[in-house]
Amino acid sequence: MSSVDKMVTVRPRTYSLPSYSLTGDLLGFLRCGLQYRYTRVGRLPSSRPVQLWFGEFIHGVMEEAYRRYDEWQKRGVPSVPPWPEAELKSIRDLIEARLAARGLVPWDDELERIGRERADTAVNELGPHLFPLIHRAEVRLTGARSLPAIDPALQFREADRYEMVGVIDVVTHVQLHDPRFAANPIVRAILKTLPERPGDRFEVIIDYKGMRRPPYEGGEGPIGLWTQYAWQLMTYAEIRRHQPDALPVAAGVLIYINELHPTRSDLETLKREVTGARTDVLPVAGSAAADILRRWGTKDPLPGAERSVLPPLPFEYRLDRALRVVPVTQEAIRAALSAFDGVVERIETCLGKECHGQPILKAWERNATAESTCVVCDSRTYCPDYQIQYASRHGEKQPRLPGVRVRA
Ligand code: SF4
Repeated sequence: MSSVDKMVTVRPRTYSLPSYSLTGDLLGFLRCGLQYRYTRVGRLPSSRPVQLWFGEFIHGVMEEAYRRYDEWQKRGVPSVPPWPEAELKSIRDLIEARLAARGLVPWDDELERIGRERADTAVNELGPHLFPLIHRAEVRLTGARSLPAIDPALQFREADRYEMVGVIDVVTHVQLHDPRFAANPIVRAILKTLPERPGDRFEVIIDYKGMRRPPYEGGEGPIGLWTQYAWQLMTYAEIRRHQPDALPVAAGVLIYINELHPTRSDLETLKREVTGARTDVLPVAGSAAADILRRWGTKDPLPGAERSVLPPLPFEYRLDRALRVVPVTQEAIRAALSAFDGVVERIETCLGKECHGQPILKAWERNATAESTCVVCDSRTYCPDYQIQYASRHGEKQPRLPGVRVRA
């Protein structure tokens, strides 16, 4: 063999990094592994994409509303919400048309009505406080981490890293000494929650959630949405802080949009949670919110308040419930990254089992702890856990094909 032959090296085989999105993959798997396998890995469309439409509609409306706000600022004709119905309608119609072009339509008229009302409330009541703080919207994130090892007998790929991707809804830049923000209720809520005052300039990442505030998870109970969404924020913060235009990330904020415009069942749930002290945001004793909640639906209603009419909770209380501020700390980031590495390991293990010949129902973990998730799951008719736990209550035994709704 010549010396030249000795110098020629063999190029390693190319492979693509497995890519995991924080919301679509990791949080989706935590909701239920088997459901994730069919809807995300197998791309089976949902027969009732109710939550998907609502979440995407709210995100789309908030993004478009901010885009218009920002454009008017730059053109020197600033306009801060509240905006008139014609403007709101043009935003809603634009987003609904975009979603419909992707096959996403509201499942019924009631969902559409609530979605529109919530979107209007979010723009007109939250927008005036949030939009002036926004530095960037829809910030794409990507980072790479070591792929956790799985049982060698289940190995099915060569990668040693995985890509973690996500999209931050909003990055805000907060300047503590800017007089415009002195009375801003979002800034005040953030500062009240931070354990120590950050430097003069810092940023906060914000994620909209198309849901009501989940009950607080304290102590040693099972890990649910409360904790998982905090992991999401910490992981976003860790990836974000390596981007070139980032300021120190002091906190992540979840905005539970449904709290800004609660429905009757939301209010009934809230009343039960307040009575049983099962939520972390109780109304202040003696406040208007406390009085309204206590007397609504009783024989002692507020003057003029009928049971059939939803009581108007003060904006301050609705905003308190909508905002959840999670301070960013190194310890919390470490815990979140380690938790998500663990989720990746579990997904890779399920994939490995399936690749090595196990049937899907055996290879994938299932999570039937949330009845509300199972009753709208398209796998319920053949899912053993659903059949054992919920089928007798709900009765549906035949699989359903993905639904089609033709709009007039
Ligand atoms: S019915 Fe429940 S446990 Fe079964 S696959 Fe669906 S979400 Fe998972």
